[in-house]
Amino acid sequence: MMEGKLLIISGFSGVGKGTVIQYMLEHYKDYVLSVSATTRQPREKEIDGIHYHFISESEFEKMIEQDKLLEYANYVRHYYGTPKDFVIENIQAGRNVILEIETVGALKVKEKIPDAVMIFILPPDGATLKERLIGRQTESSEVIAQRLKKAAEETQFLENYEYFVVNDTVASCAKNVDKIIKNASPHVLNREQVLTIKNDILRLVKGD
Ligand code: 5GP
Repeated sequence: MMEGKLLIISGFSGVGKGTVIQYMLEHYKDYVLSVSATTRQPREKEIDGIHYHFISESEFEKMIEQDKLLEYANYVRHYYGTPKDFVIENIQAGRNVILEIETVGALKVKEKIPDAVMIFILPPDGATLKERLIGRQTESSEVIAQRLKKAAEETQFLENYEYFVVNDTVASCAKNVDKIIKNASPHVLNREQVLTIKNDILRLVKGD
């Protein structure tokens, strides 16, 4: 059997990558999502085992010790990690496995599994990102500010990604990600377009 591919999908908080991935799972049959473990508190409507495995810090540290994680990272004061067995088993079973992870973890995965495809989902511009973070109404203004700051920090990792896709509409973004995986001429941004969005976000965080 042909092995499946590993997709690393990253994007700034609020960019809508979760919605894009959900759309892919519903509309394209050959993808599965790796459910991460995290020590952060569930948001309203988040279900344990579906959105994340919500676990305590000591449980997380035990997973690290027992080498059960493909990678893990710290993001805004909480642990997030990818359970290893699920990923390996599904790739071997011929499914494309999606990891929705932040930039540091993404690089660790790429080191271990060089065939992994690194995709970064970008907002059309900085203002749209801010609006989406505010519009989500799941976070306090302090957390929104932290996450925007984090987005600015994450821009320095952009150059490590292989493909950049804009989330203008969920359906077209999902389609482009699928095309990347199926080698079918996707619409992706070039480095110059990425730089424009990057600078826009940096300006926004600086408050210019
Ligand atoms: P959120 O708290 O908004 O659900 O996630 C915060 C960040 O953690 C997002 O950038 C998300 O992609 C990332 N993340 C989620 N799961 C994992 C994981 O297993 N490993 C790593 N490194 N990052 C993750």
